[in-house]
Amino acid sequence: MSYERVRAVDPEIADALVAERERQNDTLAMIASENHVSEAVLEAQGSELTNKYAEGYPGERYYAGCEHADTVETLAIERAKELWGAEHVNVQPHSGTQANMAVYLAMLDPGDKILSMELEHGGHLSHGHPANFTGQTYEVEQYQVDPETGYIDYDALAAVAEEFDPDIIVSGYSAYPRDIDFERIQAAADTVDAYHLADIAHITGLVAAGVHSSPVGIADFVTGSTHKTIRAGRGGIVMCRDEFADDIDSAVFPGGQGGPLMHNIAGKAVGFKEALQPEFEAYAQQVVDNAKALGERLQEHGFSLVSGGTDNHLVLVDLRESHPDTTGKDAEQALESVGIVLNANTVPGETRSAFNPSGIRAGTAGLATRGFDEDATRTVADLIATVVDDYDDEAVKAEVTDRVAELTDEHPLYE
Ligand SMILES: *Cc1c(COP(=O)(O)O)cnc(C)c1O
Repeated sequence: MSYERVRAVDPEIADALVAERERQNDTLAMIASENHVSEAVLEAQGSELTNKYAEGYPGERYYAGCEHADTVETLAIERAKELWGAEHVNVQPHSGTQANMAVYLAMLDPGDKILSMELEHGGHLSHGHPANFTGQTYEVEQYQVDPETGYIDYDALAAVAEEFDPDIIVSGYSAYPRDIDFERIQAAADTVDAYHLADIAHITGLVAAGVHSSPVGIADFVTGSTHKTIRAGRGGIVMCRDEFADDIDSAVFPGGQGGPLMHNIAGKAVGFKEALQPEFEAYAQQVVDNAKALGERLQEHGFSLVSGGTDNHLVLVDLRESHPDTTGKDAEQALESVGIVLNANTVPGETRSAFNPSGIRAGTAGLATRGFDEDATRTVADLIATVVDDYDDEAVKAEVTDRVAELTDEHPLYE
């Protein structure tokens, strides 16, 4: 895309769009929640469907002229059902947060109780944080990972559940590097007669490809984002059993949203079709293999990883032991300056602040999309270690900047 038509109207925005494309091409996107969609998904998202109002659902719209919107949404739903094996799917949530909101709206009353993972242990704002509507509307209690092992403390979770008696237990995380035992969390929910929402926002693609265990068929509700490991463009999705279909659909629309973003739903449909191809399984396996390679090489360089490693697409580095004077922000900024883009992150038992925490989180979904294998990923780990070890040394950073440029040239994006 040349953005010529944007440029004719609005050169400032055209400049920013071109610069963003170059930024994405010339840097390593290792923010664990990001990925690069295909040009097919981009094109679908840029389609005329952005003009269309389609309030309602396929075959039952509040507006005329929805026949093609119906085709698109029906295909998106069918493909999602096939990908995740869900009985009922709603593809209209504008984001992962909106998907979670739909479940809370459908199943809870204000003042009801949510039990979820603490944010600094890997939870998400939309799981009950005081700055989010969930923390303001519901009563929230939190569980944690085991401070020794970094794994979810399932026994402690079950004990908190018995004590707190929640209406819903939320699983699924933003910064948890390990596989999740959804059955144990379901068992804790069953004991206290609570619903179980499994929010697989980060791992939708890994679950679809079968390289991470699936909560579908176990948890009552499964929500996800469509722009992370599943690579289908920005948005959210809710899955549930047929018994909750009507409740969920009316909570999405009109409960929490107006008209669906039909152009984004077209992007989801195209991305889901791509994810149904056999190559996607190989991609997801590569993501996981690369994360292992990244983690192991960082450990060889002396870094400690929360939980000692990874089963999924991300590693969470706790800098406190190996680099006690380096904060997550120091590392994030130094790495950004050489073209390695990841984020500072809190770690379990955080001793600094949410804004300047003690860890960094790095994901491999974006790099695997542009063809990085384990070897190339180990090279990236070497570069990360070099920069974090010597982040005030401009000569070191200049050298790493050149190495990053070589890597991005070898693995171009959007040729
Ligand atoms: C990313 C994420 C979401 C969705 O976030 P949006 O930005 O609203 O799409 C929801 N839950 C978890 C655990 C996440 O990591």
